[in-house]
Amino acid sequence: MPVLARPVTVLETALLRRSLGASSAQRERCDHCHRTPLIGERIHFYGARDAEQLVCELCRPRRDSAPIRSALMHSPEHERAVRVLRDAA
Ligand SMILES: [Zn+2]
Repeated sequence: MPVLARPVTVLETALLRRSLGASSAQRERCDHCHRTPLIGERIHFYGARDAEQLVCELCRPRRDSAPIRSALMHSPEHERAVRVLRDAA
């Protein structure tokens, strides 16, 4: 049984719980199973463009119709990732 080098304070526990709650609230979730798809997993979108419903690969067979679009699940840092730009010259 591991023993911590020092006891965890109440403040540390509260800050950890708050940060976990904030990060999970911003995650994309499947409309059926409420699971956050894995990075690299194919995801499907149904419904209107302004009210899209995300469906994970595992729940895709539960829908009879074709999705309006499909994509790969990216990490939350994807938009901020460093990208190679093509040379303009
Ligand atoms: Zn699902």
